[in-house]
Order: sequence, then structure tokens, then C-alpha cells
Amino acid sequence: MKVNYLSNKKELKEWADTVKLRDGHRCVICGVTERINAHHILPVEIEETRLWLENGISLCPKHHKFSRNFSAHNNPFVFLYWLEIARPEQYKKIKDFVLANYLSIFNFH
Ligand SMILES: [Zn+2]
Repeated sequence: MKVNYLSNKKELKEWADTVKLRDGHRCVICGVTERINAHHILPVEIEETRLWLENGISLCPKHHKFSRNFSAHNNPFVFLYWLEIARPEQYKKIKDFVLANYLSIFNFH
């Protein structure tokens, strides 16, 4: 993905390196260690969460973009459902941010 935020380029590289370090330089889904990407769970365009460690996750190309059945970009519902089961604390932080920032205008009751 081309990132147009060149002023953030150094920070984004540091963010990606830190995400990968936290995840042991492996795809958190399948354990592959080659060509790992740091994926933004909430889109990179959102400034508030762009450099937030909890918003990052290490994925192989298949689980990042290419699998129709199970990739963060191609099938986000499956990915988020997996995140809820496999990494509940991280999922909860993302969910709480979304509820507070994007869904707070709705009355769920
Ligand atoms: Zn993978």
C-alpha cells in the first residue's frame, strides 16, 4: 500500500518494526516468518490510531491480503472474529475505541 503520509514515514517504520518484534516476527495466524507485514487493524488513514501498537498485527501475505477465506483485507469479518477469539485483550481495545469514537451516536438499548 502506498502511504502518502511521508511526514509519518519514519514513525510508521518504527511502528511496524515494534509490532513485528512484539509478535516474534511471525504471522500471528499461521506462524510463517517470511515477508511479514505489520497490518493496521483500523485503517492507516486514521491518524489517532496510526501509530498505536494495539492497532498493529503481524501477518504473512496470505493472511494479510490474499486469502479469500481468511485475510485481514479480503475477509475482514473472519479476521476480526479470529482476533476476538485468539487475542481478546487486543480485540477489546480496538472495539472500545470504535464504540467510543464511531458508534457512540447509536443507542444500542
Ligand atoms: Zn499467515
